[in-house]
Amino acid sequence: MEILKGAASSARIKEEAASLLAAMEGPAPKLAIVRVGERPDDLSYERGATKKLESFGLRVQSFAYPADISHEEFMDAFAKINRDEDVAGILLLCPLPKQIDQKVVAAAIDPLKDLDGISPVNAAKVFAGDPEGFAPCTAEAVMEVLKTAGIGVRGKRVVIVGRSMVVGRPLSMLMLKEDATVTICHTKTADLRAVCKEADILAAAAGKARMLDESYIRDGAVVIDVGINVDENGALCGDVDFQSLEGKAAAATPVPGGVGTVTTAVLARHLLLAAARAKAAVKKA
Ligand code: NDP
Repeated sequence: MEILKGAASSARIKEEAASLLAAMEGPAPKLAIVRVGERPDDLSYERGATKKLESFGLRVQSFAYPADISHEEFMDAFAKINRDEDVAGILLLCPLPKQIDQKVVAAAIDPLKDLDGISPVNAAKVFAGDPEGFAPCTAEAVMEVLKTAGIGVRGKRVVIVGRSMVVGRPLSMLMLKEDATVTICHTKTADLRAVCKEADILAAAAGKARMLDESYIRDGAVVIDVGINVDENGALCGDVDFQSLEGKAAAATPVPGGVGTVTTAVLARHLLLAAARAKAAVKKA
């Protein structure tokens, strides 16, 4: 079984990013990371993203707010970041505390700075197959892993477990755009095992530690594990029982070291694209 490590995709995206950055005048584009509260997941993602983007030669500024900030206060602060011309892109760490209406924030974010595709404008573009739309970075990272490995999706049967707006749904649209035949599964799917066994490419994004083992996999299938879970021993693991795939799957991504590491590389590329588009718009005006 081929192990599809995320590092190969990150390295390829880094090379592309370096040429985009070299062609750009002025200071390197800046990412604003917006965080409310101190959730350990958010802090760890913020650290990882900052490290990755800085290693790409990009600038990062974190904006952190107390967990009990009111919706109105947060929206005021967010509007300033949204308008700041020095900020080329925004990453909002979600979920937000319940007093802040996430839908209102998603509708307010400048779609041109919305690097993780939370704006309805970008969701609609991704739905329509418009390449100008920013897809959520993780969904795009799945496509990058397949691309790096030279695994085409055209005409393939793709099964995605999970239908969230962050992974499952946008991934289904990216797959469809590349001419895959897509099935999306969720908690109400009847006979999940049988549906998964039909997949040439199985993408797991359910958020349930090792819920899919080799009995869900067709011989020779490619398995992409998006899940990031903590098991009963406190270890990081995916939605797929990776060990059980040996001798069954043709290729699979590990957790950690798979899709997760590519997500922030895609974020870096989105930042460069956003900055390049903003500069082009200024020149045109
Ligand atoms: P959500 O909880 O929002 O969605 C999970 C989806 O999986 C839902 O659609 C749910 O179905 C479905 N699901 C859950 N359990 C089952 C089951 N037993 N059988 C079938 N379907 C099931 O999670 P996210 O999409 O946000 O994240 C999914 C995973 O990906 C998580 O482990 C998360 O940590 C990881 N992740 C990784 C990222 C990265 O690599 N950087 C970024 C984002 C997420 P239903 O709709 O019916 O409830």
